[in-house]
Parts: sequence; C-alpha cells; structure tokens
Amino acid sequence: SIKANREIRQAFYSDTIRQNILHVNEIESQMQLALKNGEFKMYIQPKTDTHHNHRIMGGEVLVRWQKSDGTIIPPNDFIPIFERNGFIVLLDRYMFASACKWLHDYFENHTHRIHLAVNVSRLDIFQEDFISYYVSIKEQYELCDDVIELEFTESLAIEDHALLSAKISELRTHGFLCSIDDFGAGYSSLNTLKELPIQVIKLDILFFRKGASIEKARIIVSHIIHLAKQLHIAVVAEGIEEPDQVYFLEKCGCDIIQGYVFAKPMPANDFKKLLLKDPVGYWGEGFLKESD
Ligand code: C2E
Ligand code: MG
Ligand code: MG
Ligand code: MG
Repeated sequence: SIKANREIRQAFYSDTIRQNILHVNEIESQMQLALKNGEFKMYIQPKTDTHHNHRIMGGEVLVRWQKSDGTIIPPNDFIPIFERNGFIVLLDRYMFASACKWLHDYFENHTHRIHLAVNVSRLDIFQEDFISYYVSIKEQYELCDDVIELEFTESLAIEDHALLSAKISELRTHGFLCSIDDFGAGYSSLNTLKELPIQVIKLDILFFRKGASIEKARIIVSHIIHLAKQLHIAVVAEGIEEPDQVYFLEKCGCDIIQGYVFAKPMPANDFKKLLLKDPVGYWGEGFLKESD
C-alpha cells in the first residue's frame, strides 16, 4: 500500500542520514590522530610532456588515507568533510610539506628537474599566514623556482576573484606556479582567464568523459587550448584514458597530459622508481603512436 511504501521510504532515509552522521563523526574523531600517525599518504600521478615524447615532467600529489589496518580511503570520502570542519588547511599544508621534502630528496641525487603540483583548498587563502607558510617551507627545503605548482579549484575563483588574484601574484613573486583546477566546470571560466595571473589551467575531467556531446566537447577543448596559448597559459588535460584522446590533444597543442592512459596515482616511492626506469617517455615504452 501507499502508506507502507511511505513508511519504508522514511525508514530508509532516516537510516542513511543516521549512517552519514555516524560516518562524519567517525572521520572527525580520527583525523587528528591519523595526521599525527602519518596515515595520510602522498600518492603521485605522473604528468607527461607532449612536446617531449611524453616524458614524465612531474606529477600531481593526491592524498590517500591509509588506516592502520591497511584499508585505503579515497579523498572524495573525507576531503568534503575536512572542507566543512576546516581540517583541510592542516592536511593541505602537511601534503605540501611532504611534497617539498620529496623534491628536496630527489634533487639531491638527480638532475632531471621534475615538478610537483599540490591541491590547495579555498579555506587556506583566508588564513593570515597562508603565503608565509608556503614560502617558508619552500625555503626550508631549498627548492628552486617553478618546481612547485599550487592548484586552486575553479569554484574558489568564482567566489573571491580579487583576493585569490592578489594571493596568486604574491605567490608568483616567490617562484610558485599557480593553476586553476577543474577548469571549465564552473560558470566564469573566461573571466578566470582574464582576472587571475595564473600560469596553468587544468581542463576539467568532464570534457573527456564519453557521451553524446563528445564532438562538441572536442571543439570547446581545442578552442580553450588555443585561447590559453595566446594568453601564455600552459594547458594540462587530466582524466585522459584513451590513446585516441592523446592524439587529439597533441594536435590541439595541449602541453601536458595526466590520466589513466599513462598511469594511475601511485605511492610516492613507486613514482620515484618509475622516474628512474623511464627517462625517455611513455611513447618510448611500447606505447604505440598513431602512425605505427
Ligand atoms: P583533482 O585535484 O581534480 O584530481 C584529479 C582526480 O582525477 C584524482 O582523483 C585522479 O585520481 C583522478 N584521475 C586522474 N586521471 C584519471 C582518469 O584517467 N580517469 C579517471 N576516472 N580519473 C582520473 P582522486 O585522487 O580520487 O582525488 C579526487 C579529488 O580530491 C581531487 O581532484 C582533489 O580535488 C581532491 N584532493 C585529493 N588530494 C587532495 C589534497 O591533498 N588536498 C585537497 N585540498 N584536495 C585533494
Ligand atoms: Mg588537482
Ligand atoms: Mg581539485
Ligand atoms: Mg581536477
């Protein structure tokens, strides 16, 4: 009956809500200790340079929460919670410091000028010591300019253009590269290009998902790349899964590619091994070119 259905639905809803609250409580009660115990691990996803035979030019740092029992929790399960309770600022700074240390150790033994990108949440730009923290860690690990990229999401740009613009200018004077993540997913992408003194845009993953609008997406992507080039902004395409997409992006002049087509995010140590093993680039590793 209708009434019984309604009761089942209500029972279901209150159950999922209760479970969500339990889930949030559990995560919030564990996060501080998890940070202290080093449970937040740095994964790195390689990024390749289209102008150099898809040689790995760096990677994006992506957090994974590895519980003491070994289970790994993906960021989408806890980042939104940390963004609501403010803990994201601490986590981002921890990840950033880990990335700087990693680069410092790498440069001690290698000349290949690899670079790392880290995600920075909207909350941090409102902190008084935002710039001074990032600059002090960069200096502590004696990193040269242009090896660290800070990724800001586009939604943030919409909310506070003026503040973000000022912060990015200042970061630039300290040798940071700044990028807009998930570019094209928000509502004011063109304004973002005009207002923010960024060096890089990362095209949103949604442009590359299969669907009815795939041809339209390609037209839009090729024009964004053209636009970015004229503004001297580098373009990263992320979420690339098919060789076919790689050929297309190369033809459009896209500079950097990140996606499962080359590699998934991996523990930082595996990324180091990959760099040592593969100085030539992915096309040199048995990956077939279109002409083959
Ligand atoms: P994002 O910054 O846009 O990172 C790219 C996401 O796309 C990553 O998901 C990556 O694994 C995924 N990806 C890359 N290539 C492919 C592909 O070919 N196919 C598919 N299906 N996915 C691909 P991940 O690692 O799960 O991270 C999700 C989001 O969580 C990130 O999106 C970022 O917004 C956030 N995040 C991750 N680590 C951090 C962090 O340390 N701090 C902050 N503030 N946010 C983070
Ligand atoms: Mg990112
Ligand atoms: Mg992001
Ligand atoms: Mg993204």
